[in-house]
Amino acid sequence: MKELSIYIHIPFCVKKCSYCDFLSFPADDKARAFYVETLLKEIRLEAQQYGSYQVQTVFFGGGTPSLLTVEQMKSIMDCLRENFVLAPEPEISMEANPGTVTAEKLAGFYKAGINRLSIGLQSANDAEMKELGRIHTYDMFLEAYKSAVEAGFFNINVDVMSALPGQSVESYQGTLEKVLSLTPPPKHISAYSLIVEEGTPFGARMEQGLLILPTEEEEREMYELTERMLKKAGYHRYEISNYAMEGFECRHNKTYWVRQNYLGLGLGAASLLENVRMTNESDMTQYAARIEAGVKKAAKEKEVLTMQEQMEETMFLGLRLMEGVSKEEFIKNFGCPMESVYGEVIEKHVKNGLLENGQRVKLTAKGIDVSNFVMADFLL
Ligand code: SF4
Repeated sequence: MKELSIYIHIPFCVKKCSYCDFLSFPADDKARAFYVETLLKEIRLEAQQYGSYQVQTVFFGGGTPSLLTVEQMKSIMDCLRENFVLAPEPEISMEANPGTVTAEKLAGFYKAGINRLSIGLQSANDAEMKELGRIHTYDMFLEAYKSAVEAGFFNINVDVMSALPGQSVESYQGTLEKVLSLTPPPKHISAYSLIVEEGTPFGARMEQGLLILPTEEEEREMYELTERMLKKAGYHRYEISNYAMEGFECRHNKTYWVRQNYLGLGLGAASLLENVRMTNESDMTQYAARIEAGVKKAAKEKEVLTMQEQMEETMFLGLRLMEGVSKEEFIKNFGCPMESVYGEVIEKHVKNGLLENGQRVKLTAKGIDVSNFVMADFLL
């Protein structure tokens, strides 16, 4: 049986954060109910084509999926179970933001089948959170974390961010210390640096010279601190920005990096199925109209990846993982050795100490620090 991961996009947020360029926006109860109805129709529609795959992981991302009611989440989970074949022990993750969950809601989500929770803390410093435009405080996060544990969640991720406006190295260290002292500590930590995107309030402030960010040196210190502290606390880095306790790597996200089949459902959701990329409409009216008309995503625009694009993606995405890219898999997928395509690039970066070349090609510690520079060289 072929394997599949499912991503479900929930585009609603209480309010837009100052740095956010995700497809998300505030909406009222009526709009959310309409969206869930549309989503259920899309699940049934796409199951006609992909229902025979075995679903290994499901990921509710956003936006803020925890804004949905327990009944809405339950109806989506029931619909998935009725229309797809779920693997015996699927990983079912949901992103949750403090300020949108109660103990009762979290217990309901767990009962509905969610078995991995990803909580967006970002920072334990309330002034930094306010600057980001987030709606919660650190105390609200603590409350949500405690309720999640009590609800039965064992596999919990906490998101933290560095290089924030007004953030010092000491304050970032304080955030990490607080996360590591949670009881029980989270099994997974995602640590991202802020990227200021054009078209966001932060982007506008940056253009006007009004956004004061940590210096490059401070940013570097925060970056190094992350690995040092998390390693000492028993987490291993398995991807550039992701750390986990043994056995708790995010199975869903790994499917993106190794390019396995994933089906994206909901507004703007992207899919990769048998080397064909498809992206749902990001306009709600257009998306809902297509689903209402019963038109599957494969019947609209799709991008069939050429062999060259597949190779580039294999290297570009695979190198994000600390385990790197398997040469054996490369031959299996493309019928030629990796060296016959990338021999020169690999040699160059082995010489300058950025890549390790064995049965798998992977970034060295020095290579991780300049990963974008190395990965760009794999674009043919
Ligand atoms: S909660 Fe997340 S998705 Fe929503 S606006 Fe903030 S950053 Fe964007």
